[in-house]
Amino acid sequence: MKFNRAVIKVGSALVSPDAKGCSGKYLLAIARFITECQQAGKEIILVSSGSVAAGRNLITHGSPNPSIPTKQAMAAVGQMKMMANWQRFFDVPCSQLLITHGDLKDRQRYISIKNTLRILLENGVIPIVNENDTVATDELKVGDNDNLAALVALVSEADSLFILSDVNGVYQQDPRINPQAKLLPEITKIDQSVYAMAGATNNHIATGGMKTKIQAAEKAVENGIETFILNGSNGDVFEKILRGGNPGTHFVAQQGAMRARKHWLKHTLKSNGKIMLDAGAVQALIKKGASLLPSGIVRISGEFTAGDCVDLYDASSEQYIAKGISQYSYRDLQRIQGQKSDEITTILGCCPSKVAIHRDDMVVIEKSEIN
Ligand code: GLU
Repeated sequence: MKFNRAVIKVGSALVSPDAKGCSGKYLLAIARFITECQQAGKEIILVSSGSVAAGRNLITHGSPNPSIPTKQAMAAVGQMKMMANWQRFFDVPCSQLLITHGDLKDRQRYISIKNTLRILLENGVIPIVNENDTVATDELKVGDNDNLAALVALVSEADSLFILSDVNGVYQQDPRINPQAKLLPEITKIDQSVYAMAGATNNHIATGGMKTKIQAAEKAVENGIETFILNGSNGDVFEKILRGGNPGTHFVAQQGAMRARKHWLKHTLKSNGKIMLDAGAVQALIKKGASLLPSGIVRISGEFTAGDCVDLYDASSEQYIAKGISQYSYRDLQRIQGQKSDEITTILGCCPSKVAIHRDDMVVIEKSEIN
């Protein structure tokens, strides 16, 4: 299986198999897999569950199902344990990103998360993401890390999502009842029948069981991300993946879905401003597929905020050439237009991004579409 950037979701059942603190039992093989991927030039983002389980024996609780604030306290203390546990398996640095659904819905925070992930990966650091359990009240919550992992795959523009837990994949029937039940190697369409089969394939510690894994797969494949449910407690699984095999259930990404994202940017997002570019920037965008730097901006009109969509024009011919999501508000862009990226900090006092519009957030309009 070929991939360049993957999100790997590791469930609580692997981080804390007995739900009483962290364990290295399964993480060693997962970490070795991540290191081998990195050595082969692939980029990996980890989404790790297990903070509540890791902190469980450090917070007094009298019930098998502690209250939400008690679980939040467990997560706060367990998160530290879990991060320390992960770091000991890597020579490269690990980093911690705690996010909520609220953060992903807010345009400016979404861009901050995207930029942070991009820079961490460029620096060979392993991003380790978990839900920010302390502040995640109901309406802010993703609720389970399977869906969080799918959202992280979208923000980071990953091409693959590996959901690791202690089950082999999706079975046609419950293998505990029917030991002959068949594992489904490939699912090309996620419909009610898939959810029904998923109901038969549950594991014991995970928050959402198989249902949230299928939901995550559905979100990911719709966006062109190949998704796999794999048994992370079986070291052979990683060997097989590295050899190009499929040891679990593969949810096949929808064809043309990547194009659909650009389609969404081009056709659905409303532009709130116009940016006129100099000849050098126009060439760089069209010919090299480059990002737009502040130095190439000649004029700005419209009032937009960071995260808004804007139209890009050639300043001399006034031809419409591209559309993209701005990293800066119109006020900040007006202050840095025509300037070198190195000057941004001096002018604005900070530099959230060296580019005005990143190439991943831009779609160039074909000549044939203009006329
Ligand atoms: N954020 C929770 C934790 O770290 C996990 C949620 C999940 O496993 O889906 O314990």
